[in-house]
Amino acid sequence: MSKIALITGASRGIGAATAINLAAKGYDICINYKSNDVAANKVLYEIQQLGRKCIAVKADISDEDDVVRLFKIIDEKLGRLSVLVNNAGILLPQSRVEDLTAERINTILTTNITSYFLCCREAIKRMSTKHAGKGGAIVNVSSAAARLGGANEYIDYAASKGAIDTLTTGLSIEVANQGIRVNGVRPGFIETSMHADGGEPDRINRVKSSIPLGRGGQPAEVASAIAYLLSDEASYITGSFLELAGGK
Ligand code: NAP
Repeated sequence: MSKIALITGASRGIGAATAINLAAKGYDICINYKSNDVAANKVLYEIQQLGRKCIAVKADISDEDDVVRLFKIIDEKLGRLSVLVNNAGILLPQSRVEDLTAERINTILTTNITSYFLCCREAIKRMSTKHAGKGGAIVNVSSAAARLGGANEYIDYAASKGAIDTLTTGLSIEVANQGIRVNGVRPGFIETSMHADGGEPDRINRVKSSIPLGRGGQPAEVASAIAYLLSDEASYITGSFLELAGGK
């Protein structure tokens, strides 16, 4: 029986690269996305070409009903979930704290934090040996911003990722005796369209001289780290973080 993976925000960027990496390793895949049907269908097609089962489910993971629906579709169409990659996240235009509104802060927190909690909740119900599951693994995609703070750009986003690190640490302990490992990755400066959402598509070019490895990272490089943490090669690793920020 193939393992079954859910990757949230898998129509583009790091999520898409992770879905393709896991499909090549033999997982059946659910790619989740919010609105970009064309991009999602491209990833779906690529995975089907690899000979894996794949479904694409449009669902806003900041919405509790949508998350419950997403997991029910996976139950029905693929089977019991083996691994979860909490990846979908957003960045809003660069702003200093003195200009932030409550509405914007709450959008960031709901999309980047509440969603990860909700997906963890539903995944645990399927994976936990306490719920007759076979165990599993979760990787939460955080950010180097959780360490660096996002000053002058997006402290709201950075703080949301700090919360994800705390979720990862706490949950790894909470479910360790239920057959579930929980780890995190902290990417930084990865070549995706997210930087355009922050209002600076060319941001990596501007900051790359400050990155010890001297360049931005590729989504596939983050995907490899995620796939490792999900794999049996990492069977004694839980509550850990891999830094993917070129040494920064
Ligand atoms: P991206 O290229 O902007 O892609 C974002 C993905 O998330 C898309 O698939 C998008 O779907 C989906 N999404 C957004 N909001 C959603 C929602 N409410 N419900 C469901 N799906 C939603 O992003 P990325 O750069 O690959 O980033 C992926 C993760 O890595 C994020 O958590 C981000 O914070 C983190 N990260 C990125 C970097 C970087 O440098 N790029 C650095 C550190 C951490 P649609 O296509 O339908 O819009």
